[in-house]
Amino acid sequence: MKNMKTRQAVKFRLVPTSVQEELLSRHAGCVRFVWNKALDLQTRRLEAGIPLLSYGDLARLLTLWRSSEEYGFLSNGPAQPQQQTLKNLDRGVWEALDRTNSKRFPRFKKKGCGDSLRYPDPLQVKLDLSTRDQEGRTVLPRIFLPKVGWVKVRVSRPIEGDLKNATVIRKAGRWSVSLQTETEIPEPVALTRPVIGLDLGVVSFATTSDGTRIHPDPDGVEALKRAEKKLVREQRKLSRKYRKGPKSRNFRKQKIRVARAHERVANMRLDFLHKASTAIGETQAVVYVEDLKIRNLTRSARGARENPGRKVRQKSGLNRSILSRGWGTFLSLLEYKLSRRGGCLVRVDPRNTSRTCFVCGHVSPENRKTQEAFVCVACGHAENADANAARNILRAGQARSACSEAKTSESAV
Ligand SMILES: [Zn+2]
Repeated sequence: MKNMKTRQAVKFRLVPTSVQEELLSRHAGCVRFVWNKALDLQTRRLEAGIPLLSYGDLARLLTLWRSSEEYGFLSNGPAQPQQQTLKNLDRGVWEALDRTNSKRFPRFKKKGCGDSLRYPDPLQVKLDLSTRDQEGRTVLPRIFLPKVGWVKVRVSRPIEGDLKNATVIRKAGRWSVSLQTETEIPEPVALTRPVIGLDLGVVSFATTSDGTRIHPDPDGVEALKRAEKKLVREQRKLSRKYRKGPKSRNFRKQKIRVARAHERVANMRLDFLHKASTAIGETQAVVYVEDLKIRNLTRSARGARENPGRKVRQKSGLNRSILSRGWGTFLSLLEYKLSRRGGCLVRVDPRNTSRTCFVCGHVSPENRKTQEAFVCVACGHAENADANAARNILRAGQARSACSEAKTSESAV
């Protein structure tokens, strides 16, 4: 079976210098000029009843314009986005003339309205994702745009797959780039598929039924803590500056600093969740996990696990913000990554999974000696508490799917 390909797009903010911004603005102006000029030509032909120019004709005209004296300024901008706009126009005109749909006829573009530059050839656009320069200082990743050079870009998520094209857009005075990438999906996983249960915990972010702990590395936790402290500092400064004058220049500047600190924290958190979900999503086929909705409803019943107290939190070194807001996002990322490979995420009722002995099935809160240790009061089975819970989740999930399979086969008879 052949591998399938999927395309996805990610959008990032560009951080151009003022010179680069000026260049982008002019290049977008050239694209707009080409669009309007070609649209004018086609409209006149339509009105005079002369056959329309094909995309090939238009592209040849563009070459002439770029080398002419009158329109030579067009050659200051890259050629491909200008060709691309002709392609878009050609498609737009034909779609509007096709009476089977109700697409409106292309319109003339005004300055500053929907400015965009599409680079259809990934070879003309280069990405440099390194975040350290030669001296080891932190720098932003860069993207190379023809006739502009290397422009800084805020890469807020991992870019997966091969770059197919890039589109630079201006919205509300801010430039961003949308990257379209293509990934190959391997053939659907065979019938003997790796299946695990997953326990979301406090001591470890998550534990699998085979005992693997998923945890951010200590450096990452430290860096996140620092970033969060900085955010709190900047927010305090903001309120001080607000008291001095909510409309002052200083206040506005501080607001931007707070927004940046926020973004940094959010990115670090998301980065961990991405790494953790990729690790499982790429090796497993079916993952059984606690249903967080039910879990939140039965929060009080599970008491100690959800309110582990300060000591546990400190001991685990796990950041509260990863825990408190991370699970939901983590599960949606995981679900997406599993489904892309033909796997799936199954939510099971979490009731009693943390206080049931996996070996003998005895249910008792007494089984949970400490946050980390599970010792069954009936049979003496001792295991890491999260791993025991993860194995119970796996078993509950498998029981459930066996049950639903039985039902399907019954109804088929
Ligand atoms: Zn037991």
